[in-house]
Amino acid sequence: MSELTRIFAANEIEGAPTPFTLPRMSEEHTSRDWNYHPDLPLQDSSIFRWPPDGRFLANWFAKNWLTLSERVMMVILAVVLYFTVYPSLDVAKTWAFGWVLQTWVVNMVMMFTIAGGLHWFFYMKKGQGKKLRFSHRDLLRNNRKFDFDDQVKDNMFWSMGSGVAQLTAYQVVTMWLMANGYIPTITLASNPIWFVLWLMLLPVWSAFHFYWVHRLLHVPFFYTRWHCLHHRNIDLGPWSGFSMHPVEHLMYLTTLMVHWVVASHPIHVIFHVIYQGPGAAMTHTGYEDLLVKDKRRLALGTFYHTLHHRYFECNYGNQEMPWDRWFGTFHDGSEEATKVTRDRKKRMYS
Ligand SMILES: [Zn+2]
Ligand SMILES: [Zn+2]
Repeated sequence: MSELTRIFAANEIEGAPTPFTLPRMSEEHTSRDWNYHPDLPLQDSSIFRWPPDGRFLANWFAKNWLTLSERVMMVILAVVLYFTVYPSLDVAKTWAFGWVLQTWVVNMVMMFTIAGGLHWFFYMKKGQGKKLRFSHRDLLRNNRKFDFDDQVKDNMFWSMGSGVAQLTAYQVVTMWLMANGYIPTITLASNPIWFVLWLMLLPVWSAFHFYWVHRLLHVPFFYTRWHCLHHRNIDLGPWSGFSMHPVEHLMYLTTLMVHWVVASHPIHVIFHVIYQGPGAAMTHTGYEDLLVKDKRRLALGTFYHTLHHRYFECNYGNQEMPWDRWFGTFHDGSEEATKVTRDRKKRMYS
């Protein structure tokens, strides 16, 4: 057994549920491995599913864009921040410490409020108890795997340190390029249709980009040096999402460079910044949905990516995109898929 296989194996054992938290097996959507899981096996919910299913696509569109979804909220936030606290394009024309610092402060406050707010609600106030929480286990303390021996402190350090700094760096460079006319820039008045369409395409682009960067990060050379930091988190909390090694931040955030070639408005850039940074906190909450009066009001974490954190070499992308299914790395939550994934991992590290 190589050193790496040992690390993985140890992680998986740690990831197993403790005997104290075993649920009653008769309960639906709960098992020895999961406090909560959605209907299994996971279905193919890719928007590129073939043949195209009009009703499915209409539902997907309505769920994401015609309700107060995570994405709609992020667009609203982007518009509000653009008009209130972020420096304007005029200011960004010439480099100055002031507006760069201003952008960084806004991003720090935003990250702290969103990740911190979710953490406070789910893990301090325990506002939803364990309802819809995937894992049986609490976030880890007194564990040497993490910096400061504490999962939350470790995750906060990497998210707020390297994470927000690099997010800001990509953002201010893009703003400066836009302000000086070095890259194509539009307004709502000049290109109204593209303006709206591009907002809706950005998450699709981001998912496409993420899949490939993430696959690269799972090449053993990259994984053992950098990506393993994000994978300290077997069980997830909001702060886990953007907790990455600086080299991973640098690679993960290259998604923002799309604005250097595709005509955009600063609101697109801000939406994209929110989607990559605080958005990662939302997808790693550890819970599937936010419940309000026992009704699912906001989709948060996905079981799909939770499986990736538990079993590593599967589900590199997200469920909307077909890549994992096309390239045979899809884990549908079944025991057979776990076995296939473990075999793949063994092959990669033997
Ligand atoms: Zn990974
Ligand atoms: Zn993750």
